[in-house]
Amino acid sequence: MNADQLRQYLEFYQDLGIKDLYRRAGGAGRDAEGGTQEVSRIVPEDAARSPVATTQDASPESLFPESQPPGGETLLQILTDIGDCTRCRLHEGRTKLVFGVGNERSPLVFVGEGPGADEDAQGIPFVGRAGQLLTQMIENTAKKEGIGLRRDDVYICNVVKCRPPGNRTPEPDEMETCGQFLFRQLMAIRPKAICALGGTAAKALTGHKEGVTKMRGRWFQWRAVPVMITYHPSYLLRPYNQDAKREAWEDLKKVLHFVYD
Ligand code: URA
Repeated sequence: MNADQLRQYLEFYQDLGIKDLYRRAGGAGRDAEGGTQEVSRIVPEDAARSPVATTQDASPESLFPESQPPGGETLLQILTDIGDCTRCRLHEGRTKLVFGVGNERSPLVFVGEGPGADEDAQGIPFVGRAGQLLTQMIENTAKKEGIGLRRDDVYICNVVKCRPPGNRTPEPDEMETCGQFLFRQLMAIRPKAICALGGTAAKALTGHKEGVTKMRGRWFQWRAVPVMITYHPSYLLRPYNQDAKREAWEDLKKVLHFVYD
C-alpha cells in the first residue's frame, strides 16, 4: 500500500468517527510469547508527510485487523446503521429519510444537496421537477452520445438524507454528520467518477468553497475518484439560466464519455 492509499484508509476511518488508529509493530496482534506488541498512533497527515515512517510493513489487515476494509460494506449495511436517524436536527421535520437510489455497482454516482418536498414524501432522491430534469439530462445526453444508459443504471444520492426545512441549504454541522454516510456509500460503490450537482455537493466532496460557476466543467477528486462539478438541476429550471443549461449538458457529456467510453 502506498502513502496515498494509506491516507485514504485513514481518512475513511476518521470519517466514521474513529479518531485514534494504532499500528502494530510487526503486523500480528501478539508476539511469540503471547505478549502484546508495541503499537504506534498514526494519522492521515502523518501518512502524507512521512510515507516511509508509516507505510513500512503496513497492509490494510495489519492496520485494521478487526475492521471490515473500506469498500467492504454494502449499502444495506450502511442504511441499517443510519436506522431511524436522529443524529442531527434535520430529522425533526423529516417524513422519510432519503438514502439513495439506483445501481449499487454503478461506475457513476450523482450527488445532490438534500431532499426536497417530493423526495421527503417518497423517500427517493430526485423525483420532483429537478429530478425529472436530471433523468432527462442523463438519458437524453447518453442517447445523443451513443451511450445506452438509463437513470436506473447509475446511483443517485444526496449530501444530507433528510429534507432541510423550507429547502434551505444544509448547515455545515448537518453536512458533516450526514456526510460520513455519503462517504461510506461512495466507498461501498467505488465508482469510476462522481458528478457533483451544485455547490453543496461540490463543497462536501472537494472542500473547495468557490462558486459552482467557477468550478463547473472541471475535474476535482474525492479520495482519488474523479469528481466533475456541474450546476444543480433546480438552478437549470430557472428560465433565465439557458446558458447554464447548455454548460451542464457539456459537463455531463464529459462525465459520460469518461466513464462509459
Ligand atoms: N434536490 C436535491 O439536491 N436532491 C434531491 O433529491 C432533490 C432535489
